[in-house]
Amino acid sequence: MSMPTVFVSHGAPTMALEPGAAGEAMRRLGQELPRPKAILMVSAHWETPSPTLSTAARPETIHDFYGFPEALYRLHYAAPGAPDLAQRAAQLLQQAGISAQLDAQRGLDHGAWVPLRYLHPQADVPVTQLSIQPQLSPLHHYRMGEALRPLTQEGVLIVASGSLTHNLREFRGRGQQVADYVRAFQGWVWQALEAHDLCALIDYRTLAPEAVRAHPTDEHFLPLFVALGAAGAGGRVQRLTDEVTFGVIAMDGYVFGEREAVVN
Ligand code: ZN
Repeated sequence: MSMPTVFVSHGAPTMALEPGAAGEAMRRLGQELPRPKAILMVSAHWETPSPTLSTAARPETIHDFYGFPEALYRLHYAAPGAPDLAQRAAQLLQQAGISAQLDAQRGLDHGAWVPLRYLHPQADVPVTQLSIQPQLSPLHHYRMGEALRPLTQEGVLIVASGSLTHNLREFRGRGQQVADYVRAFQGWVWQALEAHDLCALIDYRTLAPEAVRAHPTDEHFLPLFVALGAAGAGGRVQRLTDEVTFGVIAMDGYVFGEREAVVN
């Protein structure tokens, strides 16, 4: 029996106060999944040259955003850390030939704690965070996920947090009308996932419509490949939501793997 893996879009930091359809879908998913022994959270907001895992015993809640409502800065996610899981994950990466580091200080950034407050509001399951490498390819991130796949057999929930589209230059002044390129990109990714077309996904910057407009830089798309690699590209995939916020931020979330099998 293995845990499914999850990709979520964490949206703007205000999502912490306004769940929308995506937050509600995360909340439902958290209630449906079996209680994990620990959570490995991959966030687009921790960028390092090589994969790094937090061994903090009490990871702090990092408010890594500026100029937002005061109420957001008062929110905390007080889950215990998971130093043992961090060590185990680093070891799995090393065994796969991927050099990995540990960081005893790193807390949870908003890409991690905003979804976690919906997925697991009790905050009593230990959490570690894993960084991404924006200078490296989708394939590197897929291989990281592959290396971590044994964790899904060990009761660990792997959650990768980014955004299905992420062009902040187009963020303001659009209103709620959804941009055509966002729907085109969203549709293409979902089709490729359903078709298990890993090659196309890895080459998305060339093949997907308006990929560079959807992701001027691709740090918010890369976490998807970790979730995909950890589950295996040939497995079952379910979409949690296709909500679009602010007209340009696609909030798609996916569950990879045998969700039903673990619920029963
Ligand atoms: Zn973000």
